[in-house]
Amino acid sequence: MRVLLVEDEAVLRSQLRQLLEQAGYAVDEAADGQAALHLGTTEPYDAVVLDLGLPVLDGLTVLQRWRSQGRAMPVLILTARDSWHEKVSGIDAGADDYLAKPFHAEELLARLRALVRRAHGLASPLLQHGDVTLDTRTGTVTQNGLTVNLTAHEYRLLAYLMHRVGQVVSRAELVEHLYAQDFDRDSNTVEVFVARLRRKLGATLIETIRGMGYRLAPTP
Ligand code: CA
Repeated sequence: MRVLLVEDEAVLRSQLRQLLEQAGYAVDEAADGQAALHLGTTEPYDAVVLDLGLPVLDGLTVLQRWRSQGRAMPVLILTARDSWHEKVSGIDAGADDYLAKPFHAEELLARLRALVRRAHGLASPLLQHGDVTLDTRTGTVTQNGLTVNLTAHEYRLLAYLMHRVGQVVSRAELVEHLYAQDFDRDSNTVEVFVARLRRKLGATLIETIRGMGYRLAPTP
């Protein structure tokens, strides 16, 4: 999952980036509204954390422009404490949820998980596929109740597919959603990670759809 983090306060931005990366997200960041608008318009994100008070272009305007361009990714806005009108205008502008500053790291992560899962019509933070269970809260994967150790990249790839069971996901899409913008992207690495996941979780878990990509086939 790839997230855009928009926050102008450098210290908070760097703390949030670290938090999100530890939680398994690929993170791009923007420090002002103009940069945010550009990234959110041109890059695909699974979710956005958007501070409203931003230099150059305020967060509300950025959000309104995204929505008027048809950009539908889930957006969590960060609002000033006790500013109910910011929350109202944010939600009216197309925000999916809000969090008032200061907030607890765990709450941000929980709300973000919920947004990503709702965007895929999933109700539970526990994703199940056959005998594989992925707990989005803890970032752990089990198979038949036994813990399977995955690297951060393997986990990210599996989580992406498990949010989209039954859908064919192209290699290009995977590359775009698994890596941050400044990462040295090489679509061959996707194949490597798929091979490793098959070794760890069974050869039949991830299907290759020739010329199209990969899929977790729906289980009976
Ligand atoms: Ca700010």
